[in-house]
Amino acid sequence: MSSYDVVICGAGIAGVAAADALTARGASVLLVDERPPLSLTSDKSSECYRNWWPGPDNAMVALMNRSIDHIEALARETQNAIALNRRGYLYVTTDPAQTAQLQQAGETAAALGAGPLRTHVRPDTYTPSIAHGFDGQPDGADLILDRATLRRFFPCLADATVAALHVRRCGWLSAQQLGMTLLEQARRRGAHLAHARVEAVEVQDGRVSAVQLDSRRVVTGGFVNAAGPFLRRVGRMVGVDLPVFSERHLKVAFEDHLGIIPRDAPLLICADPQAIAWTDDERAMLADDPEAQSLLDVLPAGAHCRPEGGIGSTWVIALWAYDAAPVEETFPLPAAPYFFDVTLRGLTRIIPALEAYIHRPPRPTIDGGYYTKTRENRPLIGPAGPRGSFVMGAFSGYGIMAACGAADVLAAYISGEALPAWAAAFHPARYDDPAYRALLDTWNDTGQL
Ligand SMILES: Cc1cc2nc3c(=O)[nH]c(=O)nc-3n(C[C@H](O)[C@H](O)[C@H](O)COP(=O)(O)OP(=O)(O)OC[C@H]3O[C@@H](n4cnc5c(N)ncnc54)[C@H](O)[C@@H]3O)c2cc1C
Repeated sequence: MSSYDVVICGAGIAGVAAADALTARGASVLLVDERPPLSLTSDKSSECYRNWWPGPDNAMVALMNRSIDHIEALARETQNAIALNRRGYLYVTTDPAQTAQLQQAGETAAALGAGPLRTHVRPDTYTPSIAHGFDGQPDGADLILDRATLRRFFPCLADATVAALHVRRCGWLSAQQLGMTLLEQARRRGAHLAHARVEAVEVQDGRVSAVQLDSRRVVTGGFVNAAGPFLRRVGRMVGVDLPVFSERHLKVAFEDHLGIIPRDAPLLICADPQAIAWTDDERAMLADDPEAQSLLDVLPAGAHCRPEGGIGSTWVIALWAYDAAPVEETFPLPAAPYFFDVTLRGLTRIIPALEAYIHRPPRPTIDGGYYTKTRENRPLIGPAGPRGSFVMGAFSGYGIMAACGAADVLAAYISGEALPAWAAAFHPARYDDPAYRALLDTWNDTGQL
């Protein structure tokens, strides 16, 4: 077959979710990737999800709630082949001044539709999450201010912890299984996968007419740019300059052979900015290295970690985007000699026992990729360029959790279904509106981890 309703460029999580949603609506789909499916960014994530998103409106919460509904339905249909859990995200502070901010974040998220905020100032009022499964769990968030509750349920946390916000419609899953499940569903409904490179998109009379691969030409009236870190490059093929840039984000996995991180822990996040307590020798060494000098500054909040793997695993993964800045997308990623050490030290603020690994570090495995994103950290989903041309990307650090909801929106545009009101917040042409551009100047929390 050399003619399809839609050709999708990219078989990362965005592309496979789009193929799933479009074939579910009866479209014939060709999914094109020059790499194996899900192998560039979508297999490098920390596989977490949350419906906890700040912003001036409820669009991100609504998108994530839609996506998580979809993910939960898939988990039920597959006897949880995607290993979905609902352990939550735990934002931890040792700074009394941050407590009010956690409370405000909880109230704001509740107002945006993420569920109610419950505050715990006495023992025996807080319900912990379950380690496995996802059904029957609360949504919203629990602000735990009672020290006895913190010590009882989160014994690895620092004695100095003054508050923890446990956000509940959150957890993690197997992103690879999610992606493969979506891909297999799409293929069962007739989607084809081509191992090829998209070279050009042909446009006739203002509408997409064909896509040129390195191996052949495919006739189509629909083109979806789901090219991940190459979104901008592929956008130029249809004459659009997509307003995206990329940041390098890394992740480290290591064996927690001392058993410091409880195996049933939620995602543990340090909510405090901090300066690392380097020794004098370390300070001198870092000051001499122009690439590392910034490590002497106060680094942002957000160091986080979680247990990884099933029963018997001792692995932990940890991340800290302390140096996020726009960069060129280059593969393979450049070496990151300080990343493990800095991330470990950052985490000791909330989990002091990790200090044991600073001078005797376990062997780390570091990988990562790019958060390709817009300025306000919201995705691009919808028409862009000539008629028949669409974009589904700029998924930053949330593509795994957002893909199913985003694919529903994309498929609604393509098939002419009614769109949810919040879809407008992700329309690629939103920047044409001067009021929106003015709003961006006042936007200071993008919710990025
Ligand atoms: C360290 C890290 C941690 C993260 N943690 C999380 C998390 O906990 N939760 C979460 O939801 N998200 C997380 N993310 C983000 C998530 O991984 C991404 O948002 C998501 O994988 C992006 O998917 P994608 O399909 O847009 O891009 P990709 O997975 O990069 O797929 C794009 C595909 O397009 C193909 N392509 C590009 N150009 C062409 C062309 N011309 N021809 C053919 N093929 C082409 C590429 O080969 C690639 O396979 C994390 C990301 C990183 C880096």
